[in-house]
This record gives sequence, C-alpha cells and structure tokens, in this order.
Amino acid sequence: MKVGVLALQGDVPEHLRALATAVPGVALVPVRRPADLAQVGALFLPGGESTTIARLLGESGLWTALAERIGSGMPVLATCAGLILLAQRLAPSTGGTDPPTFAVLDVTVRRNDYGSQRESFEAPVRFEGLRSPPFPGVFIRAPRILSVGRDAMPIAWQGDEVVGVRQGPVWGLAFHPELSGDPRVHRAFLRSVGPRR
Ligand code: GLN
Repeated sequence: MKVGVLALQGDVPEHLRALATAVPGVALVPVRRPADLAQVGALFLPGGESTTIARLLGESGLWTALAERIGSGMPVLATCAGLILLAQRLAPSTGGTDPPTFAVLDVTVRRNDYGSQRESFEAPVRFEGLRSPPFPGVFIRAPRILSVGRDAMPIAWQGDEVVGVRQGPVWGLAFHPELSGDPRVHRAFLRSVGPRR
C-alpha cells in the first residue's frame, strides 16, 4: 500500500522524512491532485496554515475527492492544521476567519489557543500504547482540543489535557510528531493501518 502526504502547504518534507525513518522502504506519494490521492491507501495531513490548506484543497479539486475517501474509511493521520481541518466543531478563534472543515472528528477545537508563534513549546506527551519515555510533543501555534465528543477517543495527553484523538481509522493530533525526531507515532499509525504495504 502507498502512503500519501497532502503536499499543498506546510511541513510536508518533514512528514515524508519521518515516514521514511519510521518504516524504511515504505512507498510514499506527495498528494497534490485527485489522481495522486487515488493511488494511496492512507494519508497524512501536515501542519501548516489551515486556512491556506483549505483554500488550496478547493482549488486543486482535492476537497471533494478527499471528503469521499475519508467517508469511505481511508486511514488519516492529521497533525495541527490537519486536526483543525478534520474537526466537527471550531470554537471561534481571535482574529481572522476560521477555515471550513471536513467535520469528521467529534471534537471542538480552537485555533492558535496556546498563543502565538513565539509561545510555541515542547512538552512531554503521554501517548496511548507507547511505552516510556514520553513522546516529545512539539506545539507550534497549536490548536487546543476544548472538548471530545462520544465518537472520538483520547489517545494523547499533555498533563491532564487531551492533545490527540482517534475516531476509527482517523487520528488527529494537536502537536507535530514529524518534527520531534521520534518515529514512534508514525510507526504506530502505519502499523494500525495494516500489514500490507
Ligand atoms: N495555527 C495554524 C492554523 O490555524 C496551525 C499551526 C500548525 O499547523 N503548526 O492553521
């Protein structure tokens, strides 16, 4: 199975590198058009600027194609801006307009809720199924998960706060495992996708 990384904007090379490290030899496809998406069996949505990614998804024809694939059960791992694009509910953020979303994950999320770029930080994250040490969580103008509905399951915590959820084959994380140099989350996701690659 080929694994895609949505490659319209954001930290795409970092995800490709993290995937190649996590599972050497995995077949990777940068996804820029619907034809790219059709080749992949799982997709990573990178961090970046959710409003920009949403606009480019519309312009490239990928919005509709991606909504269909997610609806038919394609596994997705979304980080940061990607989490925003999958949330069912966005609490209004201060300043600027919020993007449209695919309304998949049963969570309420607020963009930029940990502060500005300068207030970005690294903190240990407890991640379901990963043994010690804690996962190094990199938070960059991160969205905050304000509440988790019944259909989504928390899978990552920073202190008492939920910073990652899973709903069936779709994972959404407020932090950036692709920037931490620790391949465990990418590896765990690919393992959950199945043995065929
Ligand atoms: N603040 C960005 C947004 O609202 C997300 C930041 C990120 O992906 N690192 O889209």
